[in-house]
Amino acid sequence: METIFDLQDVSYTYLEKFEALNSVNLTMTAGEQISIMGANGSGKSTLLSILNALVYPTSGEFYAFGKPVTEEAFNSLEDNEFGRYFRKKVGIVFQNPDIQLFSSTVFDEIAFGPLQLGLPKDEVKKRTEEVISMMEISNLRDRAPHTLSGGEKKKVCIASILSINPDVLLLDEPTGGLDPRSQLWLIELLQDLAKAGKTIITATHDLDIVEQISTRAIVFGEDHTIKADSTCDMVMNNLELLTSTNLIHKHMHRHGKLMHEHLHSHDAENHHEH
Ligand code: ADP
Ligand code: MG
Repeated sequence: METIFDLQDVSYTYLEKFEALNSVNLTMTAGEQISIMGANGSGKSTLLSILNALVYPTSGEFYAFGKPVTEEAFNSLEDNEFGRYFRKKVGIVFQNPDIQLFSSTVFDEIAFGPLQLGLPKDEVKKRTEEVISMMEISNLRDRAPHTLSGGEKKKVCIASILSINPDVLLLDEPTGGLDPRSQLWLIELLQDLAKAGKTIITATHDLDIVEQISTRAIVFGEDHTIKADSTCDMVMNNLELLTSTNLIHKHMHRHGKLMHEHLHSHDAENHHEH
C-alpha cells in the first residue's frame, strides 16, 4: 500500500522553548486506522497539526504523498498545486468546534470546503445536500453554527470535512463532550468510513474507543517521544506501558469491559495486589 505520511526525526517546539514532539519517526499507509494515544500535553494535537500542514517541523522532515511538506511548499496555497492537492486529500476535525465553525448557516459551513476547491456551484450544492442527509442534520441546515449544542457542532464540523471527501481524516479527541448516543453514532460513522477505505487518524486518550476505531496505536510519552507503535491489541494489553505513559493509573478501577479483564488478569498474576 501507498505510504501517505512519512516523518523522519521530526521535533517541534513552540516559541523556541515549549517542546511538543521529540525525534518522531513514523510512516502511515493509505487505508490505515490509527489511534494516537498519550496523556495530556504529550504532543497528540501537535502531531495532527503537522500531519495537516498547519505547522511545520522545527527539525526533521515531513513527507506527504511522497513530497516534502515545508513552509515554502505551502506558502501560496491559492495557486499552489501541491497545496490544493493536499487540502483535497486531508481533512481535520479539531477538538474544539468553535475554532472550526465560522459560517452564518450550517449549509454554508458544509458548502465552504467544496467551494474553496473550486467545484461548480451545482456540484457543491449536490454534495452539501448529500452530506446533510447522510449525517441526518437537515433540521439544522439554516441554523447558525455558533448557536448549536456541543454535539450538534461536532456533527457539523465532521460534515464540513466530509463534503470535501478527503481520503485522510484527522480527528482530535472526537468523542470529547459527546453524550453516549452521539459517541456510538460517531464510532459507527468512523467504522463505515474505514470500510469505505478512508485513512483515519484519531488522537484520543479515551481508551474505550481505541480498539473500536483503529487497528494500530501509537503511544506518546510525557517526554514527547513515541513509546510504542504497534497493534491496538498489543498496546491495550501492555499495562506497564499504559501506566508509565499515564494513560491509566495503578489504582484506577475502570468499568469498561476491557480494563476490567486486564485488571483481573493482572490481579491473578500478582496474587491479589488490590
Ligand atoms: P496533547 O494534544 O497530547 O494534549 P499538545 O500537542 O497540545 O498535546 O501539546 C504538547 C506540548 O506543547 C504541551 O506541553 C503543550 O503545553 C505545548 N503547547 C501546545 N500548544 C502550545 C502553544 N500554542 N504554545 C506553547 N506551548 C504549546
Ligand atoms: Mg490535544
